[in-house]
Amino acid sequence: MNNANQPLIFEITKPGRVGYSLPELDVPETELTEYLPTDYLRVEEPNLPEVAELDIMRHYTALSKRNHGVDSGFYPLGSCTMKYNPKINEVVARYPGLAHIHPLQDESSVQGALELLFDLQEHLIEITGMDEVTLQPAAGAHGEWTGLMMIRAFHEANGDTQRTKVIVPDSAHGTNPASATVAGLETVTVKSNENGLVDLEDLRSLVGPDTAALMLTNPNTLGLFEENILEMAEIVHGAGGKLYYDGANLNAVLSKARPGDMGFDVVHLNLHKTFTGPHGGGGPGSGPVGVKKELIPFLPKPVIVKNGDEYAFDYDRPQSIGRVKPYYGNFGINVRAYTYIRTMGPDGLQAVTENAVINANYMMRRLAEYYDLPYDRHCKHEFVLSGKRQKKLGVRTLDIAKRLLDFGYHPPTIYFPLNVEECMMIEPTETESKETLDAFIDAMIQIAKETEENPEIVQEAPHNTVIKRLDETQAARKPILKYQEA
Ligand SMILES: *Cc1c(COP(=O)(O)O)cnc(C)c1O
Repeated sequence: MNNANQPLIFEITKPGRVGYSLPELDVPETELTEYLPTDYLRVEEPNLPEVAELDIMRHYTALSKRNHGVDSGFYPLGSCTMKYNPKINEVVARYPGLAHIHPLQDESSVQGALELLFDLQEHLIEITGMDEVTLQPAAGAHGEWTGLMMIRAFHEANGDTQRTKVIVPDSAHGTNPASATVAGLETVTVKSNENGLVDLEDLRSLVGPDTAALMLTNPNTLGLFEENILEMAEIVHGAGGKLYYDGANLNAVLSKARPGDMGFDVVHLNLHKTFTGPHGGGGPGSGPVGVKKELIPFLPKPVIVKNGDEYAFDYDRPQSIGRVKPYYGNFGINVRAYTYIRTMGPDGLQAVTENAVINANYMMRRLAEYYDLPYDRHCKHEFVLSGKRQKKLGVRTLDIAKRLLDFGYHPPTIYFPLNVEECMMIEPTETESKETLDAFIDAMIQIAKETEENPEIVQEAPHNTVIKRLDETQAARKPILKYQEA
């Protein structure tokens, strides 16, 4: 399946074999030195493989198949919403009128693109229940930082310079405390209670005149909807703080509940998750931020304005936090999200949430017989299991994740959130069929049985992949990107 036996191109090189054919030279042959200083010229021939065109084709095709993507298999990576990205999005993003424009073109010549962005903002305003939206931020974490900078600017404009603390639950996404720090604010952790929700008593004890905001990931990273949101809003607003909603995983509540109606002042979305921008591998993404009226003056500039039938960029925003991204956001991802919203329509978006939630609950209930379920409650788009039972038998969650590779699955998110021992965070997404869910469940059940009967199979996994276990930190920090002779 993963072309483990495909030889590397350097291993099949045959001197003199070529993979190209060029027409005969019909111009006078000249020495390169006529054009380039000799210092710049290569002295020795490069060590390139000598292979036929077919060999090179097979080489790159084999490499491409070594990657796992949503288009090649199930990818239940919790909190990442690895759902299917409809190909019509790609078709629209490649329309010449959208793909071939330049960000420095005069506004009058890109009215269609500006209209699309303006209209996308209108849709996101409706979807989130906010008063205004910026499409500038390039990712979820970038949106978080942008939102917090606006909250900070708001407090400073009111002379509230002592409001420097951002309250973040221990069940929040990991980027939340990081964004607060980068925004020059200080993170204070609020505990979860035994139900996995924010502990209201702890929250009450933490708010005060130094509170800048509460930053809530909802559903939290346990996949649970924060049921006491209205009360939390009252507590935080009562203390003069703002409410920030991490809406990266909006497929849990889309068209069912809106952060704006819950009392939130700022929300960010991940268009590259919920709204089908392709992602993984670092971008490009899009993390729009919605705000309530009071925060509109602080939005990044320029903002898109509509004057009659004309669209323009407004730079005259004296209280703006400034530009957060060159030009105006990752345009191509915004086009894809717009296409998605328009093709789904309101009913389609509602079905997204229903299917995301039912898929996760179905999987959670079936797997709960074989793995510990630390929070036995209905989940939203994702859920967490604990590998505690398996750990007692000598199999760690990491082993289970590696064993899943042998079945052709991308493993779930593991060891996060931190408050669950041997955690597995599973997000099936709404685009998977029951057959796919069942096949994954069967694999997980088989692994649970192997753990009891023959744990070495799991402990020594993966068995079928090109590369066995690697040092993931080293692989990310010091990747080996070229062939190294043995
Ligand atoms: C993915 C995610 C983020 C961060 O988004 P990036 O685009 O990766 O920066 C933030 N919060 C939650 C809940 C997420 O799932």
